[in-house]
Amino acid sequence: MTTIDELLGAGDGTVIQLNERHPRRRAHLRQLLDVRARLAVTAAEQRSHNLPEQHEVTRLLWAVEEAIHTGWPRTYYEQFPRWCVEEETLLHEPTTSVTGCSVCRADFAPGVSHQPPDAA
Ligand SMILES: [Zn+2]
Repeated sequence: MTTIDELLGAGDGTVIQLNERHPRRRAHLRQLLDVRARLAVTAAEQRSHNLPEQHEVTRLLWAVEEAIHTGWPRTYYEQFPRWCVEEETLLHEPTTSVTGCSVCRADFAPGVSHQPPDAA
């Protein structure tokens, strides 16, 4: 059971660390990390295909990462190197079809036209 002293800290600079363990804050952090992971996949897919939406999704990704940085700086700095490695593995050349990429799957789905509409 969490005591009020644990929640408030002992006045020795551990307030943030103890508060990070509060169940509600941990649940919030898990949600933010989940949203961040989904946005990171979408941003990498869109960037791989140079889609115009990539900038908006990347801005959302950065906003979520900033929220993590502000509320859970230790987690942010622990996770950041992993996020960079994951991003590298998610990016691919637009000419290469990647099984896990939703844009590739949509491009090669039956009935999808890859040509721009005829101007004639
Ligand atoms: Zn792709």
